[in-house]
Parts: sequence; structure tokens; C-alpha cells
Amino acid sequence: MGDVALISAAAGIFGATGFMEYAVRGRSSRVFGPSVYRGDRTRPALALTFDDGPSESTPALLEVLARHTVPATFFMCGSNVRRCPSIARSVVAAGHEAGNHSDSHPRMDFRSPEFIYREMALAQETIHQTTGAIPKLFRAPYGVRWFGLRAAQQRLHLNGVMWTVIGHDWKWPAPRVARLLISYAANGGILCLHDGRTLERAPDIRATLDAVEMIIPALKERGFHFETVSQILCPKT
Ligand SMILES: [Zn+2]
Repeated sequence: MGDVALISAAAGIFGATGFMEYAVRGRSSRVFGPSVYRGDRTRPALALTFDDGPSESTPALLEVLARHTVPATFFMCGSNVRRCPSIARSVVAAGHEAGNHSDSHPRMDFRSPEFIYREMALAQETIHQTTGAIPKLFRAPYGVRWFGLRAAQQRLHLNGVMWTVIGHDWKWPAPRVARLLISYAANGGILCLHDGRTLERAPDIRATLDAVEMIIPALKERGFHFETVSQILCPKT
């Protein structure tokens, strides 16, 4: 069944508005293409993910992660990679995973399949050319998915990734962010934070840095270890 047929059939059952809201933004929705929001529930592994960078503020975060020897996954915007190419390279050089977070961070709803593909392809090309890494993961800006995403993901060999819990680190103080992330952390959890503010230069990510400093030791103490999203999804046995 194509996207349109599937959606109209389901909308008839669930009610159009509620269903579309879920289809577009629901963390477990696969309506517009394959997507995951957590990994293996049997392993005490967590993935820290950082969206909307790289930015001039990312090196401070790399320093924190290096000090704790924790790998993470960075969902990068292509336009930020072109602005901060050496920072993008240092993310990958430090052993972190690079994911695709579109080129200019638009909302994808009500956009054409061509627009969606171009946004994703341009970011993919930029990240590859700049860092040498070929992203395997895509996180939709604002978690908003739409018609055409499934085909674009397929064409670019990208797997959709949402999150188990999102930190609200762009607006909350660090202790509140840390409390939220710690309380929702469970086996295979994918935690979402931000090392950029969409396309903003030198954003203030103090709350993010402080929250990361708080959660890493607290979660290690609870028996968790940290992996990249690809490791969480395909654990080596
Ligand atoms: Zn974002």
C-alpha cells in the first residue's frame, strides 16, 4: 500500500486529525518511512544524541565527552557543516557518529517530495565531502515527517531515528534537563540534546554542557554505558 492509501485507510479508523498528528510527529510513527526511537531493551546501553550542530560551541561539548570517554551521535545540518567544517571533522575524528539532520532545518510538512529529498541529499553530500563519514541515520527537523520521506530515506540509505526522551535543553536549566533524562533513561534509550540552535552562530549551550556533566556519572552509576546510535541498533555480539 502506498503512503496515501495507507494514511486514508488509517485516518478512517482513528479519526483524521489525531491520526495525522501521530503520523507526522509521533516518536513511534513509521507512517512516512522506517524509524526507530529506542534500541535493544535487553542491554543497559544508552545513546546520547546532539542535534542542530555543528556550531562554534560544539568543541566544548567534545571536551566533556572526551573527558568521560563517552561516544555520541551528532545529527548535523549541512549548512552548519559548511559554516564550521573543521568542527564537523573534529566530531568525526573523535570517534562520534555523524547523522543527517537536513540541510537548513526546515519543517518538512506540506513540502514537496523533491524539496524533502534535496534537503536530505545536500546534507548527506556536505557531511560526506567534509568529514569523510557517510551518515546512515536521519533525524527529521522537529521530528516532523511527511510524504516523500520514505523514498528519500531509501534512496540515500538512511534509517530514521527519533528519540526516547528529548532534553528541552534549549529552554530549561541544566538540573531540570538532567532530572528528566535520568528519569526516562532505560535500556536502549536514545537521549536527545542539542549542540546547536538550528542555524544560529555560537549558541549558548551552557545548560546542555552542564546537563551532560551531571547525567554521565549518574547514569554510569546506575549501570548504563554509552554507545553510538548505530551500535545501539546493531549491537556486536
Ligand atoms: Zn533539530
